Parts: sequence; C-alpha cells; structure tokens
Amino acid sequence: MLNFHSIKDYQILLANGETSCVEAVSFYIDNIKKNQHLNAFLEVYETEALERASLLDAARNSNQKTGKLHGVIVGLKDVICHKDHVASAGSRILENFHSVYNATVVEKLLAEDAIIIGRQNCDEFAMGSSNENSAYGNVLNAADNSKVPGGSSGGSAVSVQANLCMISLGSDTGGSVRQPADFCGIVGLKPSYGRVSRFGLIAYASSFDQIGIFTKTIADAALVLEVISGSDEYDSTNTTSNFYYERNLSLSDKKFRVGYFPTTFNHESLDREIGVKQKDFIDHLFKNDIEILPIDFDLLDYIVPAYYILTTAEASSNLSRYDGLKYGASQQATQLDDQIISTRSNFLGKEVKRRIMLGTFVLSEGYYDAYVTQAQKVRNILLQKIQSVFRQVDAIIFPVSPTTAFKFGEKSNDPIEMFLADIYTVFANLTGIPAISIPLFKHSNGMPFGIQVMASHLNELTLLALSEKLMAINKQLNN
Ligand code: GLN
Repeated sequence: MLNFHSIKDYQILLANGETSCVEAVSFYIDNIKKNQHLNAFLEVYETEALERASLLDAARNSNQKTGKLHGVIVGLKDVICHKDHVASAGSRILENFHSVYNATVVEKLLAEDAIIIGRQNCDEFAMGSSNENSAYGNVLNAADNSKVPGGSSGGSAVSVQANLCMISLGSDTGGSVRQPADFCGIVGLKPSYGRVSRFGLIAYASSFDQIGIFTKTIADAALVLEVISGSDEYDSTNTTSNFYYERNLSLSDKKFRVGYFPTTFNHESLDREIGVKQKDFIDHLFKNDIEILPIDFDLLDYIVPAYYILTTAEASSNLSRYDGLKYGASQQATQLDDQIISTRSNFLGKEVKRRIMLGTFVLSEGYYDAYVTQAQKVRNILLQKIQSVFRQVDAIIFPVSPTTAFKFGEKSNDPIEMFLADIYTVFANLTGIPAISIPLFKHSNGMPFGIQVMASHLNELTLLALSEKLMAINKQLNN
C-alpha cells in the first residue's frame, strides 16, 4: 500500500528510493481493477502508463532533472483531448473519436513528468449534476454505492476519492468540479475564467468553461494549478500571468476579511443540517483572526435561470458541429438533412437534446430579447455586485450544494429540480471568479460535505491560502 499525504510527500519517497513510479502505477492499476464496479474510468492506459513510469524511474535514477509533477498519476475527464486517444465526452456520438492533438493542459502535465493513467466517465458533454447522463453508465459514489458521485465530472471525483489515481482534471462550467468534489469529500478547484487554457477542452459553454482540479489537499491543488495555468497562444481568453501558488500558501498568516451572504445560508433549498454546520463554522472563524462580514445579496433566485439560458444558448451553437459529417458517428441517409437528423437523434442523449432545443429556442427571433438579453443583464449586474463585494472583503464563503449526494433516480425525472440544485455553484462561472470546494464535514446521513470559498478574479493565491487555513482550523476543531 502506497502511503503518502501529498504529492510532495510521494516525491520524497521516490527520491529516497522507498517507492518507484512503476510501483505507484501498478498500485493504482490494481486499485482500478478492484473497483471496476464504480465505473469511474472509461479507459485505462495500463501499458502506456507503466512504460512511461519506467522511463521516469530511469531518468530519476540517473540524476536527470525531474519535473514538478514527476511521477504524479493523473486521470483526465473524457472531455480533455489527449493525442491519439479517444475523447468521447461521455457520448455515443464521439465514441470512436481519436484526438489528433493534446489539450494545452495535457502538454503541460507531460512536460512536468506526470503520468496519464486513463480517461474518466462523465455526463454527456459535461451536462449534468449526477453523472446519470453518461452514455457509458452511472458512476457510483465510493462512500455509498447507492448514491450519485455528483456531476458532471463524476468519474474524476470518484477516482481521487477511491484512490484510483492521485489527481484528476475535470471541467467546471457551472459546478462540475466543485459539486462532485463536495459529494465525494475531496478538494475541487475551479480556477478563474482565463487562468487555464481551454484549448483542447471539448466545449460546452465557452464563456463559462474552465478546466478544474481534483485533489485531496490544497497544496496539491496549488501545485497542479501552477503547472497547468499560464498563457497560451491557442486560447485568446487566457491570461499571461503565471504564479508559484504552492510555495506561497504560507500567506495564510495574513489576516483575512471574509464575507458571506446570509441569503445563501437561509435559502429554503438548503438542507438544514448542512446550513447549521456551515454557519457554526463561519461563526467560529473570528476566534482565528478572520474577520467575518455579512453582505446583502438579493439576486440568488436569478442566477440559475440566467445560467441555463446563457449556457444552453452557447451549447446549441457549440454542439452544432456534431452532425455526423464534420465529427461524430454517422447514420447514413440519401438526403443531407435526413443524415444529420438521424445522426443527432440516434447518437445524442436526452439531456443534451433538451439543452440544444432550449438554447435554440432562447436564441430564436422574437425570444432573444426576452431571454438572452435579460440573462446577460443579470450576468452584468452580478459582475458589478461582485466588484463591490471584493472592495470590502478578500473572499466569500458559500455552501456548495443544497444537499449531500442523493440516490440514483431521485432527481433524474425532474430536470428543473436538478437545475435548481446548481444554485450555489453557477455564480462563480457567471462572474468568472475562482472558487473551490473544500471537504470539512460529515452529515448525520453518513455523507461528506464542505464549504465553498470564492475570491476575486485571478486571485487564486488568496483563495488557496485561505482554504489552507480553513482546513487547518477545522482540523483543530475536531481534535
Ligand atoms: N450541473 C451543471 C450543468 O448541468 C454544471 C455542468 C458543468 O459544470 N459542466 O450545467
């Protein structure tokens, strides 16, 4: 059994010869095989990962320079392009699609000596909150197999939760990293919009999408962010700044001012026990030199509608490329229209079709102003609000999800109920700010949950330093 707390600890074991990359890969491969029922991986690159591990071992043993992620075993959500590997976005329409290039994040991981162990199950085209929309079956929550892992990056979250790899990359358009991290009791980071290149990420809603990180510790999230962020000529929305997050985490000595919106904790949708535990924790923070400020916020009920109007509009455009001609499996027909219609009817799932139709509807003449323009106004008002909030505080604290992981089938017949549960996560995507969910608590129903921290745009350092501090405070509280 490999035993280490963080990537840095594992690398010390490697440097001291107490383990090897080959041993580590074998350990995870073995664990994946033992946990196949979780359905977290769609494909495992066993031979390839072992070969790469042995090359890395040889390089280290001959004293060659090692990368920041030397020997780190990574899983990729099935929406991230990896050259010569399938990227199916959890969909039948891309079942046999082999990427011809690497996403920028993959290039960056490989340049720092990471080992990619496989691709992970997710909701089709990253649309969903429970992983029940994958064309390749449900992913099971390792803490309770009758419950969902969250979505859409369910496979990536469960892989870290159940020790099937060290870290995973997912994507977060409206919470798909933070919510499954919360349901699985691990750390889930969504960087600021523009912090990590989206080049090679299969698009859902381009002005919201960000690649995010699943880890067990804040330090690991900081280290991985350091590697995958930075400028990229292939993504013009990306920023040029680069930063050393991990070694600066000691900023936690800083005296933080933290805000919270009482309306989020008093909202009727929030499970009482979750709300009480989170609020108690916040109330306790002032004893640890953290100043707490309640802030008025009366826009909560507008954010889910705005999110679903804008993301489905963008999705209906992004997904028009899957017509069976340019991309995707195809259903042959004699007429062009018939071919496109039967391809899309046969190879896309129900939720994806629902969103393409919703998006096409809100974009159509006569409805555009009533829906899209209004939603854009909401987005603008939220942006103004957030700018004024971050003039007063360094960070804000939110719940992550109104409930802990729920049972399979509990919400899948009611799309509106499923959408509404995104109430706490979509805010960060509408405004582009960085957000993280950190595991802190256990519910009396046995499932884990945590809280969400957000900071101002591109201020991941504050976000991570404060999160590190909150984890430490919680540990003390439990001792
Ligand atoms: N649950 C949200 C949705 O279905 C989040 C998706 C995501 O972040 N990819 O749109």
